[in-house]
Amino acid sequence: MISGDVVVNRKGEVRIQRGHPWVFRTDVTAAEESLEPGAIVRVLGPRHAPLGFALFSTLSEITLRLITRGSVLPEDFLARRIEEALRLREVVAAGTSALRLVHGEGDGLPSLVVDRYGDVLVMQTLSQGMERLKSEIVRVLVERLSPRGIIERNDPRVRQLEGLPSIVGLLWGDVPKTLEVEEGGLHVSVDPWTGQKTGLFLDQRENHLAARAYARGRALDAFTYNGGFALQMAAAGSEVLAVDSSAEALERTRANAARNGLTSVTLREANVFDLLRDLERHGERFDVIVLDPPAFAKSRAAVEKAQRGYKEINLRAMKLLARGGVLISCSCSHHVHEADFEAILAAAAVDAGVALTIVEKRRQARDHPVVLGVPETYYLKCFVLRRLE
Ligand code: SAH
Repeated sequence: MISGDVVVNRKGEVRIQRGHPWVFRTDVTAAEESLEPGAIVRVLGPRHAPLGFALFSTLSEITLRLITRGSVLPEDFLARRIEEALRLREVVAAGTSALRLVHGEGDGLPSLVVDRYGDVLVMQTLSQGMERLKSEIVRVLVERLSPRGIIERNDPRVRQLEGLPSIVGLLWGDVPKTLEVEEGGLHVSVDPWTGQKTGLFLDQRENHLAARAYARGRALDAFTYNGGFALQMAAAGSEVLAVDSSAEALERTRANAARNGLTSVTLREANVFDLLRDLERHGERFDVIVLDPPAFAKSRAAVEKAQRGYKEINLRAMKLLARGGVLISCSCSHHVHEADFEAILAAAAVDAGVALTIVEKRRQARDHPVVLGVPETYYLKCFVLRRLE
């Protein structure tokens, strides 16, 4: 199973010792020529002290992804890690039919994602190392969970950095085009083959439910996708305006509302940036506003532009908020950290001339674990703010 040794410099060694699972190419000082893409390697420090085992990439800037810090790699490490991941879900997502079973680094299985929608599993293997382990992963999942079917949604762009092709395909059993799952007592449809991400934004599941508590009066769900927030707020009694630029996403929101007998959801196909300005011009007011845009900063280079985007939509939303109203504002950009996002919100409030209190600081659902000391793994920030005056 172990193909060879890779030596890292002092910086790489310190990173690993501090708990970071990645070593960049610039910190690798020696790797055997014969190592194949995705090989499992032993990692040694500059004085050849064993540091652990890692997945090796021949192309990515992230050359090593640590899979264990131990001095031995158990034969069945994959099955063990998956089992540990499943145990956590029994605690944090018991009884949920749509959830993330394996969340990469957060489960000690870097670059592997496994999502569950009822009796179907959707997998992503986002590095050469996990790609190589694909059939072994399928074997473990089938044995442990007996799913009806497993597909791979290996179409995220990050695969290109690993020289891996974009593939969407069946790996096991059969997987229908559309499935129905339950979220917070509502029935929602999922298209695991072509929906965004693996079908749903599972990282927002707990925040969707949290939004119920704030729902009242008139609500705006900007960037609604399939109605994750809108449907919960409507079920809790709000009159909801749900907005997205994708007609397809809105069609599914409409069908989801109908399926649950929710008649207080109005849909609008629009660019949120334009719509917020229009609503302001018409003097509209909302009691609850949810902002859940796509990641504006997909790379470090894009951070500045992203910050302007976040400030713009938040400023506009704050102006639309009624007194005592609640703004649920999210950012899923890895490169915009919580403190940065808080500073953007504070600056937006100053420009909007409103005073807000922080009611909650929420994050990605607990089935998307954050690794302590690895800020990149805390990507979804969700602030609940209340307008004082
Ligand atoms: N809130 C959703 C997830 C939103 S994902 C949930 O909890 O499930 C982001 C959504 O924003 C996508 O559906 C995408 O189609 C939409 N989107 C992206 N840019 C947009 C824009 N400028 N205006 C409106 N919608 C946009």
